[in-house]
Amino acid sequence: MDQNLHAYFEGKIVPFGDAKISIATHALNYGTAAFAGIRGYWNADQKKLFLFRPLEHYKRFLQAAKILMMNFPQTPESLTQITIDLLKADGWEQDIYVRPLCYKADPGIGVRLHDLRDEISIFATAFGSYGKNEDGAHVTISSWRRVDDNVIPPRGKISGSYANSALIKTDAIRAGFDEALVLDQNGHVSEGTAMNVFMVRDGVLITPPIYENILEGITRRTVIDLARQELGLQVVERSIDRTETFLADELFLTGTAAQVMVVTRVDHRQVGDGKPGPITLKLRELFNDVVHGKMKKYSHWNVAVE
Ligand code: PMP
Repeated sequence: MDQNLHAYFEGKIVPFGDAKISIATHALNYGTAAFAGIRGYWNADQKKLFLFRPLEHYKRFLQAAKILMMNFPQTPESLTQITIDLLKADGWEQDIYVRPLCYKADPGIGVRLHDLRDEISIFATAFGSYGKNEDGAHVTISSWRRVDDNVIPPRGKISGSYANSALIKTDAIRAGFDEALVLDQNGHVSEGTAMNVFMVRDGVLITPPIYENILEGITRRTVIDLARQELGLQVVERSIDRTETFLADELFLTGTAAQVMVVTRVDHRQVGDGKPGPITLKLRELFNDVVHGKMKKYSHWNVAVE
């Protein structure tokens, strides 16, 4: 990390290198932490950095904290303000990614959630594209299963559950794929390693519902709104079977890091005609316009760092 960067750590903005924790930290040993991931887009015309939907990200972050029995006085608004102060201290003039983390901060042995000190840290890093963003990705259906709400709740970005995503991702990459879709315990498609999934069948946009062991994605919600409001599409939240991904006309993944990622092959089968489909391309274009603050109607989602 750059010497001039900062971190929010134990209630203060400090030089990045001063934000250090012990190897005995509970969260490091037991995965008792939750994180967020927020993109900041640099607007060269306005010479300003804009965070995309930070309030929604922090709302979900505090919900994950609640699941882990953490109590913070912060609100989505106060955390957004801290983030703005941090980013101003860093002085970014490029696209970035912000990583807030809430964690069980006490050192020591003993797995539990209660009677432990909770802390929040935040840092930012330079960030471009993530994964295969330009042409279509080739995904596999993972042999791993998605963590279940009754195992480690996937509706919060709980650190420990990302061992599941890491197992899925590395198997996929090492087998020559770009990404993987993972099935839940019932055999339905849940999501990717860090992305929600959408398919188009007969002009209808379909995505798994939030009770199907997915993260309640903010990009997912954004794309649903854009599909309905800008394209007049019917959007249906329902279970997706594995083989439907082979038969879909279009398939894509959404996430803060991945943005809108087109999928053109699933386990060596072409999706549609093997080229990025028209609905996906339109949604990707709309999404890019919205995150870059080019659509006035949605400018309340772009929070300026000023
Ligand atoms: N699913 C998982 C497992 C993720 O980690 C992410 C990335 N945060 C997503 C979906 C997409 O969520 P969002 O659009 O809020 O970034």
